[in-house]
Amino acid sequence: MFDRRELYQELILEHSKWPRHAGKPAGANCRVEGSNPLCGDQVTVYLELDHERVRDIGFQGSGCAIATASASMMTESVQGKTRAEAEALFAQFHRLVTGKSQATAEDPDLGELAVFAGVAAFPARVKCATLAWHALRAALRGEGALVSPE
Ligand code: ZN
Repeated sequence: MFDRRELYQELILEHSKWPRHAGKPAGANCRVEGSNPLCGDQVTVYLELDHERVRDIGFQGSGCAIATASASMMTESVQGKTRAEAEALFAQFHRLVTGKSQATAEDPDLGELAVFAGVAAFPARVKCATLAWHALRAALRGEGALVSPE
């Protein structure tokens, strides 16, 4: 039988080993740092934001597989989205990892992010899975530090 959980785990491991959008985008104009002392995860999310849209996004950090994979998939998911779309996606993602929604059927927009549904069974890992997202949201709300574009 097709084991969905195994596939999910593989996808998380794959993203944690080879994160997408690793590093600071050349046009970054804002950054937010986040840390999760419970697990030792640290992340810096860089964004190129214009008034409307996430034009580019990248991250640097060190952390567990869940924190890294979540940051990696987040960057893929929100690049090019409007601020409102990115915030809405975080709200959906947050409901998923806190067990308030049942993955893909309800939230078709989550796409690959649905692999984090399993995190809901491990409340201690929710902070790992949402660390980069909280940094993103802070940036969207204007709480980030300014970065001079290169
Ligand atoms: Zn962690």
